[in-house]
Amino acid sequence: MSVECHEHLDCLSDYIDGELDPTLCAEIEHHMAACGDCRIVVDTLRKTVSLYRNYGHEEVPEDAKERLYAVLKLAYRADDQEAST
Ligand SMILES: [Zn+2]
Repeated sequence: MSVECHEHLDCLSDYIDGELDPTLCAEIEHHMAACGDCRIVVDTLRKTVSLYRNYGHEEVPEDAKERLYAVLKLAYRADDQEAST
């Protein structure tokens, strides 16, 4: 688990929406090739987005995204603490 993951985490939502700068997209893809944790995050977000679309919503509401990120960030932090002990 690295600082890099935290940085990418903030961009992953835009990445999934296809709104992210192509340079950053390439960076994230490069990072994900080596980082299973970020692949899981993207996978989870994609599933959430497609669930919402199945129910007829165009977008995942911001508050739902924020809740999801809060959970993911907590998971990252828990891992960080485990690694340092
Ligand atoms: Zn990562």
